[in-house]
Amino acid sequence: MILLKTPDEVQVMRRAGRVVFGALEVAEREIKPGMTTRELDSLIEGYIRSQGAVPAFKGYQGFPAASCISIDDEVVHGIPGDRVIREGEIVSVDVGSIVDGFYGDSARTIAVGTVSPEKKRLMEYTLKSLNAAIDKARKGNKLGQVSATVQSIAEGAGYGVVRQLVGHGIGRNMHEEPQVPNFGSSDEGPVLKTGMVIAIEPMINVGTYDVKTMPDGWTVVTADGRPSAHFEHTVVITDNGPEILSIA
Ligand code: MG
Ligand code: MG
Repeated sequence: MILLKTPDEVQVMRRAGRVVFGALEVAEREIKPGMTTRELDSLIEGYIRSQGAVPAFKGYQGFPAASCISIDDEVVHGIPGDRVIREGEIVSVDVGSIVDGFYGDSARTIAVGTVSPEKKRLMEYTLKSLNAAIDKARKGNKLGQVSATVQSIAEGAGYGVVRQLVGHGIGRNMHEEPQVPNFGSSDEGPVLKTGMVIAIEPMINVGTYDVKTMPDGWTVVTADGRPSAHFEHTVVITDNGPEILSIA
């Protein structure tokens, strides 16, 4: 079943959400060509801990870092390490936090310096699809309306919508029911109710939607090597509409 969060629990999740927002702000402010992804991750982890929170990804199923950092054709789950960030790359940063037992989860793709028009447009439409989907996260709507909104905007722009990875419910665990696909029919899925919290996270590719996992067991890349973007927010459904938790 899908657990509905109480107002007190939502209040804690606002704090967890503010931490991931702040961490992504640090990443966006500090990222620069010549830096390694490990250095960027270290700044993110330092911020999360400075807020009295725990980096949710570190140790999750053995993941070794506080953030996932995925560059260009890397879709998600890139492991921070020795890779040097370069001008013209797009860098997807995904961050999770735990505050008083509740999780926050958010991601954004950051342009490093000047990027190609192809990458810029991909980022714009991925963010646009997320924002339009969030607007559908209203009580009484089917979850499928959220999913179908992402798909129609992304495919309408000519892009591939990743199928193998989806968004999720979130609360006392990072991944709870229901799954939140970025594709599907608007009449599918559970009816949204006040107190449901979901992480909506379109992963959108310039080319094919097909992806594969690298030999490191984590990094997911596009099958055709073309760029991918990823934006994510943790959102609670309220009586008055969607409220983004992963924000200031
Ligand atoms: Mg995430
Ligand atoms: Mg997520």
